[in-house]
Amino acid sequence: MTSCTLVLNADFNPLGVAPLSTINWKEAVKLMWLEQVDVLEYYKDWYVHSPSMTMQVPSVVVSRTYVKSSRSVKFNKTNLCIRDDHTCQYCLNPYGKSQLTMDHVLPRSKGGKTTWNNIVMACTRCNTLKGNKDKMKPAKEPQRPSLGEIVGKARRSPIAIPNENWVPYIGWNPKLITVSSPNNNIDEQGSLVL
Ligand SMILES: [Zn+2]
Repeated sequence: MTSCTLVLNADFNPLGVAPLSTINWKEAVKLMWLEQVDVLEYYKDWYVHSPSMTMQVPSVVVSRTYVKSSRSVKFNKTNLCIRDDHTCQYCLNPYGKSQLTMDHVLPRSKGGKTTWNNIVMACTRCNTLKGNKDKMKPAKEPQRPSLGEIVGKARRSPIAIPNENWVPYIGWNPKLITVSSPNNNIDEQGSLVL
């Protein structure tokens, strides 16, 4: 889930894109005080208070040092959904992440592994139909995606962000962005306790 503060690398690109690199405001304030990040943008109407001070919540921060990031893609359901275009690889219908399941092409009972080359996204109906049979074949043979493929596909998918001042930094198609205020999120609220 997206937290309220976007973290950029020293080159002003997001530290991560799939998922977008974010932290909660308490971590952002801590990093700011440790002088590890500089604040580029604040939330206009969002202040937090301690007994002795009031401060504005950072919306975008940038790391003072360049963080080398891994070029490999994490194997997880989010990235599998992005690789497979949020589409069931058997019936080719589009689904949301929560409606898709990880299907072993070669069933586990026959020694199939949980790897990029043996997992495809399937809707529950197709997954049930397939069961332990391996006669149903996915539309294409699953492969490990490159980071560029995942980042490119992620940026062509809809995204919800908590503040419009992230838009110039994330490199997304503006038509695919929904801005929804984090103030509805109780977990992000609270007093400034450091
Ligand atoms: Zn299906």
